[in-house]
Amino acid sequence: MKNLLLDVDIVVDICSMREPYHEPASEALGSCFEKGISPWVYVGSVQALEFSLASELIKQNLSDDEDNNLALSLQKAKELLKRFSKEINWLAALAGEGDVFSAKNSGSEQLIRSLDRFPEASARLLTRDRDLLEHYPDQTISVEDFCRIMRDVDLSKAPLDFVDLKTQQHQIRPSIERHIHTVLHHGRYVMGPEIQDLEKLLADYASVNHCVAVSSGTDALLMPLMALGIGPGDAVFTTPFTFIATAEVIAFLGAVPVFVDIDPRTFNIDPKKLELAIDAVKANDASIYPLPQYKDPLSPKAVIPVDLFGLPADYEAIMEITERENLFLLDDCAQGFGSVYKGRHSVSMVDAGATSFFPAKPLGSYGEGGAIFTNDSQLNEELGSIRIHGQGKNRYDNVRIGLNARMHTMQAAVLLTKFKIFQKELIERERVASLYTEGLNNKECFSSITTPYVPEGLKSAWAQYSILTEGPRQRERIRATLQETGIPTMIYYPFPLHTQEAFSELGYKADDFPISMQISNRILSLPMHPNIKSQQVAKTINAIEKAV
Ligand SMILES: *Cc1c(COP(=O)(O)O)cnc(C)c1O
Repeated sequence: MKNLLLDVDIVVDICSMREPYHEPASEALGSCFEKGISPWVYVGSVQALEFSLASELIKQNLSDDEDNNLALSLQKAKELLKRFSKEINWLAALAGEGDVFSAKNSGSEQLIRSLDRFPEASARLLTRDRDLLEHYPDQTISVEDFCRIMRDVDLSKAPLDFVDLKTQQHQIRPSIERHIHTVLHHGRYVMGPEIQDLEKLLADYASVNHCVAVSSGTDALLMPLMALGIGPGDAVFTTPFTFIATAEVIAFLGAVPVFVDIDPRTFNIDPKKLELAIDAVKANDASIYPLPQYKDPLSPKAVIPVDLFGLPADYEAIMEITERENLFLLDDCAQGFGSVYKGRHSVSMVDAGATSFFPAKPLGSYGEGGAIFTNDSQLNEELGSIRIHGQGKNRYDNVRIGLNARMHTMQAAVLLTKFKIFQKELIERERVASLYTEGLNNKECFSSITTPYVPEGLKSAWAQYSILTEGPRQRERIRATLQETGIPTMIYYPFPLHTQEAFSELGYKADDFPISMQISNRILSLPMHPNIKSQQVAKTINAIEKAV
């Protein structure tokens, strides 16, 4: 059970201190907070609550002046409910819960129906209505039973979420619901007004002239390359230590991904090696730097640095190279949106920046989504056209080969709400990262563990908090110990892209990029989200101490 819906009587018991029910009901609510169960009150019950609570207050305080009693009690009831409601979540009343007139008790029927929305068996109605308890044994629970079950819940065994989107949703649920319902009412599911609102908001935030909302981070990477006309015979430089999408889009267009090894401290593309790789391609000489196999000489066209784990790449050094070599600079900012590079957002410094709104990213939607940023007006127009089948002046004028790459209006609606707490969440992520880093640096026993390095003047968006272990064996030991303690971990990324079967045609050898290989054997990502508590960080660090 994860959710507890409170019956009207239970709320009245608590707010009016009604004897003898008040004490157990308050204990039940208290254990919700303590044991991580979400308490809900049904929005459709508000008037019933006011009335029932006022009646109870009158009963408790009988005086002769009945009119005055009613007005005062209603006033008092409202005040009590206002205070009470700050502690609970409101459960929206949906249209399907209006038609309950054939039920004996329409109020109870609404509550029972609303439980259908929760994942199976994860919610119960807390009630002391004998009829309900008898008729709906699987959907209801008595106060006594609930308190008894809660006493046995051992919180120290409670698992930690790797990414926690539920707590975040509770904080913004009313606004999310409002935005989604607005879309339902205006009905412009494709390219609705929320798309433009979001584009403006994000462009302003990142201090970029243009933002194009698209269907995914992958399309956000693909489209600028399409606009540029990247294709067969072109070389696009990127890192092998990233998610597949970064290099996939290059190969998808028939161009060749030329991998460049990473900096061992930042895990981002190493500018010195980038220079070597460009020289190697220009001279068609793999003795300068490892090159992929290809028939004809390649022409260098673009560089895609990745802001891995949320940390911006070394843009000053990279831009010196791309400007000198006249290469297009596309930032894969899928993990780095919200990060800061010497006072600026990286997407505002490059030719184009691509980000992803996949749910688990620092700014995530409730599905797929992405965005492209650019200061180049012509590129912006081309991207807008590519997004809609290469559209020209109107829908049936097609001037280029494009895609169907529009963001869904529903996702824009979700993002508009999520953006409101994004800045606050970035601060919380920073807090969690600092706690990990302090904890893992204050004891001798952690000397074999390397915490993330953030160069001077940079701010990570902390998409991931990734430590370097000694090697695969220590990493397995830490993973297993954390797993036993209910703490999930991830390995980003176990296999660098040049070793993936999908890129086998490039003919790279595993040791072409030794740093990427070493790091992929040692890297380990710990749980990271804005709502991790300091005790949870301490618990994680204790478990790591046990393992090392
Ligand atoms: C998530 C991610 C992508 C792809 O984003 P999608 O929205 O899932 O298509 C690309 N690059 C990196 C580095 C990512 O982490």
